[in-house]
Amino acid sequence: MKEPIKCDLHVHTNYSFDGNATMEQYARRAVELKLDVVCFTDHIDINDHRDTFRDFPFDERQREFERVQKQFDGQIKLLLGFEMGEPHLHPRETAFLRSLHPDMIIGSVHDSPSLDGISDRRAYERAYDRLVRQMVEDGDFDVLGHVDVLRKWHDDYEEDTDYVYGTLKLCVSRGIVPEVNTSSMRAKGVLPMPDPKAVAYYVACGGKYVVVNSDAHTLSQLDEFPQVRQSLPKGARLCFFEGGKLRTEA
Ligand SMILES: [Zn+2]
Ligand SMILES: [Zn+2]
Repeated sequence: MKEPIKCDLHVHTNYSFDGNATMEQYARRAVELKLDVVCFTDHIDINDHRDTFRDFPFDERQREFERVQKQFDGQIKLLLGFEMGEPHLHPRETAFLRSLHPDMIIGSVHDSPSLDGISDRRAYERAYDRLVRQMVEDGDFDVLGHVDVLRKWHDDYEEDTDYVYGTLKLCVSRGIVPEVNTSSMRAKGVLPMPDPKAVAYYVACGGKYVVVNSDAHTLSQLDEFPQVRQSLPKGARLCFFEGGKLRTEA
């Protein structure tokens, strides 16, 4: 049987406020790791704490990408996308991102005024879950980023499993592909986001495709996650997006 495609579709370069490696450095490392596809997904966040949209160097990043893509032609497929924070709350800016024809957009909940001031952990977690649900209902994006990232942020995280599973089920009808984000394993030694049981539920609901992503912010975080890939439920197929279209072969 053919080997499943090895992709890392959630990678932050030095065009992210919290990333420090260049596209060229990542590409070289990805070739060493024998990855088939890498997508650069720098942060676009618009909230009370940060606005990375207003002065984002879209043209400069595009030019650098095209140069690096040419340099590594034939060695690895490089793609360019964004990780958009709360796309459903910023439809105009998200439409602008789409107008740039990125290969894909990850939709993630990072921050929102509606979360400000909630000090109770459980209340915050449920409010976070609701924001993710609304994003999946209304947002324009291809891949659902770290559905339960609070697993990584809260040491005492308690998941509302039914609600998170409901959000994953909704991904199936909306044609959104959930990522399995491994940054929680790296940062805290806890399960990936979402965990294997949740992925199995999504597949049982008819979900066909998943992606496994490092969410790398430094070069050493790029990974090929053989165990996570192997532990995916039968019926889950790895994929990537090119020009907004889902593909399963590089
Ligand atoms: Zn994120
Ligand atoms: Zn990220």
